Amino acid sequence: MSHTAMVALRPFTTVRSAANKPPPQKPETKTQKFDKKGQRQSDSSAATNSSNNLGFGKKKKEPLWQCIQNCGACCKLDKGPTFPSPEEIFDDPSDIQEYKSLIGPDGWCIHYEKVTRKCSIYADRPCFCRVEPDIFETLYGIDKKRFNKEACSCCIDTIKAVYGSKSAELNNFNQAIWNTSSK
Ligand code: SF4
Ligand code: SF4
Repeated sequence: MSHTAMVALRPFTTVRSAANKPPPQKPETKTQKFDKKGQRQSDSSAATNSSNNLGFGKKKKEPLWQCIQNCGACCKLDKGPTFPSPEEIFDDPSDIQEYKSLIGPDGWCIHYEKVTRKCSIYADRPCFCRVEPDIFETLYGIDKKRFNKEACSCCIDTIKAVYGSKSAELNNFNQAIWNTSSK
């Protein structure tokens, strides 16, 4: 569940392994690409598909996705050429059009309030701004069982792209998802 007024993701290029290890372990940096159905185009992250079962009945801890305060990274809608274009993200032309219509001259969403780091139309934000299992499944073909892991990875990727890999925002996010992680 989101705890802040801004949630929007572009979950197709994700830094996978950072969400699979609790801090302060150094995350790996391998980048994965996804097609429109959320399937990996390359297969360099065996860990992502591996079972969480460590044997002897023990389960690995998993981060639990949550949106954090004072982030808003996903509201920077144009993150440059290394991120997929709206055409690569969405199948529906109306989603592409709506997404593009929100991009301001500086790449941030026109509804994003930089001072407060909040969405000014939160209650009425587009569906692609909502980080929810149903939305991930409908828009990106990501199975509900994969939602938590994918959402964590997407946020990490997005926060790194916008604020940097050593940013306070990334540290705060990692702390949040691991402090509430599954036992
Ligand atoms: S990048 Fe993630 S944590 Fe940051 S505002 Fe967006 S949904 Fe929330
Ligand atoms: S409408 Fe804009 S500011 Fe609001 S959540 Fe979506 S991208 Fe962020």
